[in-house]
Amino acid sequence: VSRQAAVTARQVLSAMNDAVVANEEQLGRIDAVAGDGDHGMGMVRGMKAALTAAQAAEHGGVGSVLRAAGDAFGDRAGGTSGILWGILLTSVGVSLGDTEAVTPERLAAAVRHGAETVQRIGKAQIGDKTLLDALFPFVTSFEGAVAQGRPVAQAWADAAAEAVRAAAATADLVARMGRARPLAERSLGTPDPGAVSMGIVLTAAAEVLKA
Ligand code: ADP
Ligand code: MG
Ligand code: MG
Repeated sequence: VSRQAAVTARQVLSAMNDAVVANEEQLGRIDAVAGDGDHGMGMVRGMKAALTAAQAAEHGGVGSVLRAAGDAFGDRAGGTSGILWGILLTSVGVSLGDTEAVTPERLAAAVRHGAETVQRIGKAQIGDKTLLDALFPFVTSFEGAVAQGRPVAQAWADAAAEAVRAAAATADLVARMGRARPLAERSLGTPDPGAVSMGIVLTAAAEVLKA
């Protein structure tokens, strides 16, 4: 069992939790424009539960830690994004497993697989104004930087910045999925809450990896 990766995963989840707590109000406000206003609350509930579960899985490797976190997130967050975040964490955990070392290449493949699993289950397309519109730009940027041999912390930080930019750019899109769809026109000019929280959370993870 690779201890260090499990420790890092818990630190990352802790930083992600701090970040959603700090941005809860903002995320709720964005979701209230064309949705039901609960995205901040849902992310906080999910991340808190994920962190608690990750800390309880104290003897597990990184795969067990992320699987436990994903299960707890999906159970506790409520809402569409909670289910999809649960799937994302669980899927990355399954890909990484508990025994093999986490190389940058394996991490890139795991997040790619996670994003594709979320898309397969959620059935949104790129451009539908969902969290995928931040997640896929992250994955593509991270994969590219890793393939070029960039240090993982720098590759992640640059990819997270890409996700933040892509999330902001969803303001120009009209929502085609999820609860925001009936009020789609109203969402024009406001970024997608799930894409914004994705950028926030990936940026928080970058801070841990840099340390
Ligand atoms: P709910 O819409 O159930 O209240 P949240 O407010 O927590 O849940 O999350 C809304 C976010 O979920 C949206 O901003 C969008 O990013 C994401 N989302 C909704 N449906 C999908 C989907 N099918 N695929 C990917 N992301 C989705
Ligand atoms: Mg909502
Ligand atoms: Mg809701």
